[in-house]
Amino acid sequence: MNKEKELISLQIQVPEWKRILEKSATAIEDLPKICETELNQISDVIKTYPMRINPYYLSLIKEKNDAVYRQCIPSAQELKDNLQPDPLAEEKNSPVSGLVHRYPDRVLLTVSNKCAMYCRFCTRKRKVGTEKMIMTKKQILAGIDYIEDHPEVRDVILSGGDPLMLEDNEIEWVLKKLREIKHVEIIRIGTRIPCSLPQRITPELCSMLKKYHPVYINTHFNHPDEITEEAKNACSMLADAGIPLGNQSVLLKEINDDPAIMKKLVQKLLTIRVKPYYIYQADLVKGTNHFRTKVSKGIEIIKNLRGFTSGLAIPHYVIDSPDGGGKIPLLPEYLKKYRWGKLTLRNYKDEERVYIDP
Ligand SMILES: *Cc1c(COP(=O)(O)O)cnc(C)c1O
Ligand code: SF4
Repeated sequence: MNKEKELISLQIQVPEWKRILEKSATAIEDLPKICETELNQISDVIKTYPMRINPYYLSLIKEKNDAVYRQCIPSAQELKDNLQPDPLAEEKNSPVSGLVHRYPDRVLLTVSNKCAMYCRFCTRKRKVGTEKMIMTKKQILAGIDYIEDHPEVRDVILSGGDPLMLEDNEIEWVLKKLREIKHVEIIRIGTRIPCSLPQRITPELCSMLKKYHPVYINTHFNHPDEITEEAKNACSMLADAGIPLGNQSVLLKEINDDPAIMKKLVQKLLTIRVKPYYIYQADLVKGTNHFRTKVSKGIEIIKNLRGFTSGLAIPHYVIDSPDGGGKIPLLPEYLKKYRWGKLTLRNYKDEERVYIDP
């Protein structure tokens, strides 16, 4: 083989997603010109909180400080608040390292410390992308053993970091182990990859995942600009593999804290076969205070969806309550009065309707 041919065959062996990932911006020298004036501050921030922006996600930035920019480019604000690193008490609720058992019948198992892009608002900012979160095979096994010893666990959520940052065979190893446990009914994967690096969703990955059904995926889109042809392709492949797709968004200041943007997002999600599942109120996580919005904004967003667009498009708006209290749904007030078996209700057009209890 001549040199050129050799090179081409090597490139074919390395999958496209890995080649993209390798070109990620992880140091200030890798950042585009629009960050030019911020470089000193960014360099400070990434000493504490790692940066990784792969070229695909970076290409979605249209202008400085837009919704994509704010999610991935570090900001000096990250070093300026006094919030707690782990307000949801995940570490306290971890019987074995990397496994959170907060609800009666389901657990969250972190299997990877890496992501295809480090979101600046991450709830696990205290450890994501650092050595504090490395999950060895032995640690994952300890989590799987715990699940085996707890017959009440019927739902396992693989999380991280991003589980799809693992190799196909590593993911398969975890799925196989879980499927050997009789009481595990469903497996969920929480991943931002259909949004942040859709090229990672390959035919090989999909045909492996579908062997372990029922497998559900919850992905993470926050803004309509993230719904591209590539993302649509990735989601089609997953849906064609029989995987039901949900979406979890975080309500973020100056990114998606706007009823019109959220409406567009949830409608576009349905067109790529993704069902909006949750909108999270931003947690009280150290380094992310500048992303928080008022709860009234979230309620306004839900109020502007219900009745005004497909019920299928409407996610639950929740606060993951401090100190491991679990998720609590928040709704606009629809029940105005309940007296003597008579309910006075408010519909989406703000009209009153009365319903009589039996
Ligand atoms: C969010 C979460 C779950 C899953 O909650 P669902 O409402 O069932 O989607 C499970 N465990 C932990 C620790 C969680 O944070
Ligand atoms: S993809 Fe998820 S885990 Fe990773 S940085 Fe973003 S929010 Fe955090």
